[in-house]
Amino acid sequence: MNLIRETIEELKQQYFADERPWVVTYSGGKDSTCVLQLVIAMLQELHAEGKDHKHTYVVSSDTTVEMPIIEKYLRTKLEEITEFAESTELKLSAHKLSPKIDESFWTLMVGKGYPAPTSTFRWCTERMKINPATHFLQSLVNKHQSILMLLGVRSAESQARQTSIANRKLNQRGLSPHDNIPNAFVLSPIKHWTNEDVWTYLSNTKKDTTPYPWKNHEYMMSLYDKGSSEGDCNIALNPQSPSCGKTRFGCWVCTVVEKDRSMEGMLAHGEEWMLPLWTYREMLYQYRNDSEKRDDRRRDGSRAINEGGGPFLMPVRRELLDKLLQTEIEIALNYHQMKKEASDYNPSETFQLIKDDEITLIQQHWDDDGDIKKSAYRIAQKYSRMMGESTETPLRSKLENVTDEFNIDLFERIYEIEAYRKNISTRYGIVGDIEKRIVNFYKGQFRETN
Ligand code: SF4
Repeated sequence: MNLIRETIEELKQQYFADERPWVVTYSGGKDSTCVLQLVIAMLQELHAEGKDHKHTYVVSSDTTVEMPIIEKYLRTKLEEITEFAESTELKLSAHKLSPKIDESFWTLMVGKGYPAPTSTFRWCTERMKINPATHFLQSLVNKHQSILMLLGVRSAESQARQTSIANRKLNQRGLSPHDNIPNAFVLSPIKHWTNEDVWTYLSNTKKDTTPYPWKNHEYMMSLYDKGSSEGDCNIALNPQSPSCGKTRFGCWVCTVVEKDRSMEGMLAHGEEWMLPLWTYREMLYQYRNDSEKRDDRRRDGSRAINEGGGPFLMPVRRELLDKLLQTEIEIALNYHQMKKEASDYNPSETFQLIKDDEITLIQQHWDDDGDIKKSAYRIAQKYSRMMGESTETPLRSKLENVTDEFNIDLFERIYEIEAYRKNISTRYGIVGDIEKRIVNFYKGQFRETN
C-alpha cells in the first residue's frame, strides 16, 4: 500500500473510533494543506458510501497583521473550502480565528504603547493566536464534550520538531492530550512523512481524479519560491511554543526576528510593491531598541530603563499611527502601479492595515493617557479615515481661547505625565520627569503638529 492510501486508511480508523468532531488546523502552508487534502479525500470516500457522520472544522489563524499577500491567499482558500463544502455537501466548514479588537497588535502597541515584541517579551503570540484558537476550540469542546485536532507537524521538519513529537505522550490510539484544553486530543497524521512525500503528494494534485477545493497548488508553491524561511506557522498551541516569527507565513510586523527573510524574499521576487511594509517593520525594530522612544517608567511607576524602557511614549505612538496610515496608502499605490501587468493582478484590490474599530479603541487609550486633542482621529482624518469623528474636546477648546498651539502642545506633554501615572499612589520622581520633558520639548524633541 502506498503512503497516501495507508494514511487515508489510518484516518478512517480514527474517524470511526469515536464521535469526536475533527478540527484541522490550517495555515495555508504545505504541511497543513497536505493534512487537509488527505482528510478531504477520506471524507469524499466516506460520503460516497453514506458513512460521513460527523463534522470537520477547518480553522485558520488570521492575526490581522498577516502579510497582505498571505492574508489574501488564506482568505481565498477559506472561501474555496466553504464553496466546495456547499457544492459537495461534505460535513466541512472553514473558520478564520482573529484576535479580539482589544487584543490586536495595533490596539496594544499603538494604543497602549506596548513595545514591539522581542523574544523575551513576546506578548503577541498569546493574544493574537493562542487566545482566539483556545476560545474557539473550548467552545467546540463545550458543545461536543470532546474534539480531535489534526496537525500537520512532521519529525523531518527540524530537530526541535522531532524532539517535541517524540516527547508527546500518546494513548493507545496514538492521540495526545492538548496541553491547555481538557478533552481536546491531538493527532499528527503525517508526522513520519518526509518533505519530499509532502511535495510529491501536493504537486500531483492536479493529476488526481479526486476533486478538491483547489485545482492545484501552483500559487502556494510560488509563495514558497518567493519567501525564504523555516516553515509553517500553524495555530499556536501554547505560549512556550517556539517563536512563530521565523515562519514563512508570520506577521509582517514581526520584530522577534532581526531580519524578515520571508518579506525580503518576496521583495526580491516580484512583490516589491510591499517595500513600505518592510520599511515600517525596520522602523519598529529600531524604535523598540531606542530608549529615547520609550517611557523610562512602567505603568506601575517603577523604573524600566534596564529592560530598554517601558511603553512607547505618546508622541512616538502618534508617529507610529501616522506612518502606518501612510504605509497603507503607499502599498495601495505601489500595488496598482507595479503589479498592473502581473498575471495575479486584481484591479479592484484594496488594502486596510488597521481597522476603524482599532483606531477608535486607540483613541480611547490615548484619552486615558492624556491626549487632549483626539490625535488618533486627527491623524486618521489626514488620510481620509474616521471622517465622522469629532476632534474637539472641552479642555482643548478652553486652552485655544487663552493660548497658542505651541503652549497647548507643551501643556499636553506635561499633562500626559500626570495622566500616565494617575493610578499610582507615589509621586516619587515626577518633578524630574516633568523637567526632563520640558527640556526635551524646547529642544524640539516630541513636539508635534498633528
Ligand atoms: S509572527 Fe511574530 S509578531 Fe506574529 S504572533 Fe508570531 S512572534 Fe508575534
